[in-house]
Amino acid sequence: MTGGAELDEIFSNITAGNAVAESVRSTLGPMGMDKMLVDRTGSVTTTNDGSTILHEMDIDNPTAQMVVGIAESQNEAVGDGATTAVTLAGELLTEAEELLELGLHPNMISAGYHLAARRAREGIEAAAVSVDHTDEATLRAIAETALTGTGAEHHKEHLGEIIVDAIGQVAEKTDDGGVEIDREKIDIDTRSGSSAGASEWLRGGIVSKEPRHPGMPTDFDEATILLLNDAIGQEKAEQDAHVSPENVDSAAAFDERQDKKRREHVNVLKELGVDAVFSEKQIDDRSKKLLADAGILGVYRVKKMDLEFLEDVLDCAIVSDILEIDPDHDLGTGRVDWDDEEEYFHIDAGADSAGSTLILSGSSEYVARDLERSVEGALDVLTDTIRDGRVLPGGGAIEVELAQEIRAYSEGLSGREQLAVEAFANAVEVVPRALAENAGVHPIDVLVDLRAAHDRGEQAAGLDVYTGDVRDTFEAGILDPAGMKTHAIDGASEVAALILTIDAVISVKGDQDEDEETPAQGAPGGMSTPG
Ligand code: ADP
Ligand code: MG
Repeated sequence: MTGGAELDEIFSNITAGNAVAESVRSTLGPMGMDKMLVDRTGSVTTTNDGSTILHEMDIDNPTAQMVVGIAESQNEAVGDGATTAVTLAGELLTEAEELLELGLHPNMISAGYHLAARRAREGIEAAAVSVDHTDEATLRAIAETALTGTGAEHHKEHLGEIIVDAIGQVAEKTDDGGVEIDREKIDIDTRSGSSAGASEWLRGGIVSKEPRHPGMPTDFDEATILLLNDAIGQEKAEQDAHVSPENVDSAAAFDERQDKKRREHVNVLKELGVDAVFSEKQIDDRSKKLLADAGILGVYRVKKMDLEFLEDVLDCAIVSDILEIDPDHDLGTGRVDWDDEEEYFHIDAGADSAGSTLILSGSSEYVARDLERSVEGALDVLTDTIRDGRVLPGGGAIEVELAQEIRAYSEGLSGREQLAVEAFANAVEVVPRALAENAGVHPIDVLVDLRAAHDRGEQAAGLDVYTGDVRDTFEAGILDPAGMKTHAIDGASEVAALILTIDAVISVKGDQDEDEETPAQGAPGGMSTPG
């Protein structure tokens, strides 16, 4: 049996874990409050994104770090739902505290939590509803729900729309009837200076390089495009800097040969009908002039990443020898536009091309980065949802439904186990409770209404925080992906159960060379479990 000293340790671990959960609970949902983050230098930022807060928090306590680890794992695996997971973990610990005071053994509580979590997974499976990847309205609702509670919240309608557009462009049907989304085909570019509302989706890709020769054309409705990794106007061998003109011929003769090479190369491009060249290598001034005279756009020192992205967009290959261009496979066709204000070329190869670019704007660099994180999260959520194809009613609806199922299930269990499983059911309802608290609606009233609605069989009844009413959340477009919820409940219950079985935290020497890492579930070596 666990003795007094061990119990004290468990209570203190619960307090530490709970403190972390408390710090984000009030940010849950669209009406969550902002937090002010102050670093050691006194610099201040505000956010209502639970995962940003946890990410930035300065935490030493190992138990608290385990709770932060839940958020990290949730963000890595799913991209959303971190606040839910951490809040739930906190509530599971609070419920456990009461059971410990009643004299329940920590292992019994932990076992009950595992049973209940399994039941919750089954409940999620049963309640999940399929979404079709062409159902844009539903996809937008999912994206908006995912953006809720992040820094991107105020522009979630606009951002939801461009995120769905971006994904729709790169979604591909697989042979087995599923849908695959290659995230590599969605490029995200951030700019600071304007608000998130100015963010846009572009079909295709962009190249942020100025045309430095005034004589070159910059816009084409339908350009023949070459992606190049070869220097125009130079022989292959000469591209190695070791060959200097002196040890080949006289400077004048070298010059002469170079010019010939330049003309030869530009002629090749002319003959192939190339309108625009995007090259990883330099294009020298004389070659630029020749290209300009030939009406060809030459953009040089393009980032390798950008060229590789354009390979997908244009469905052609990067050419490494200008004299060996295969016109059938090496040339792409698309629209080229120079955006003078934002200073990039937009390359769009039409409706079927595999590439989307999201240009995200933020008022400052920090805001733009925060926005990028939120949008990445929403993209992850949508990608998973489309792959997985299943969503759940949000606004606390699924939690109330699961709580009822878990309570019903607990009735068949023996006394002590039953208490632990029931405690889990109560804890899960923290989601509608916190959503109500944060929206300034009375949590008990909301819970009573929600339970009554679910008793009547209204499985999708949840709280719409904007109106304060209990309503069908599917109709309201408040949707959460099934995978996100499963991960959140699993992560929270595993860590809560683990914390309950740690009755001593022992500092050990550890490996000095290792990078400092936040201990994830089960990772820290300095913990012992009661025997
Ligand atoms: P997390 O980090 O867990 O995603 P959020 O602050 O994003 O935390 O809140 C997510 C919760 O907010 C989910 O339970 C979701 O269903 C709920 N939610 C989103 N939009 C609404 C809404 N309009 N009304 C009520 N609940 C909502
Ligand atoms: Mg969220």
